[in-house]
Amino acid sequence: MKKIAVFPGSFDPITKGHESIIKRAMPLFDEIIIAVGENSEKESFFPIEKRMKWIKMVFADFSSITVTKYKGLTVDFCKKNNAKYLLRGLRTSADFEFERSIGQVNKKLFPEIETIFLLTTPELTAINSSIVRDIIRHGGDPSQFVPDEIDL
Ligand code: ADP
Repeated sequence: MKKIAVFPGSFDPITKGHESIIKRAMPLFDEIIIAVGENSEKESFFPIEKRMKWIKMVFADFSSITVTKYKGLTVDFCKKNNAKYLLRGLRTSADFEFERSIGQVNKKLFPEIETIFLLTTPELTAINSSIVRDIIRHGGDPSQFVPDEIDL
């Protein structure tokens, strides 16, 4: 059976941190579905189509990576797509506390799911989408924090 992982997130926008986690996870899975959440309560900075387009540009050369949007529970999306693995990145102990409860609840909701965490490489720990958005809002150049393929 194919090993399929889902990497869920807002990717608003994708950063070098996300890119690194996905590339490091590629040898572990047959397929990785990058699942961009459509969250009606959380207003996004960039429209979903743009966020997806950028991710597709970054992974255009990798046939095991697909990019999809989804609504609703992440575990329901995993079930529909036969994915038994949820991929997440861990930057800090705050990430760990947040991820621990989500991971444990997801396991209750869908006992076959395993959440797999990859530790961030130290030089990427400080990067997150909200810092990139702040740089853009204030007229700065975020290019060193986002994948080379995208031009914000
Ligand atoms: P969310 O909306 O769930 O916060 P994000 O788009 O911010 O989603 O992140 C999706 C995943 O990418 C999360 O597992 C997060 O920990 C991971 N991630 C974000 N930034 C980094 C980074 N700099 N290094 C490693 N992982 C990261």
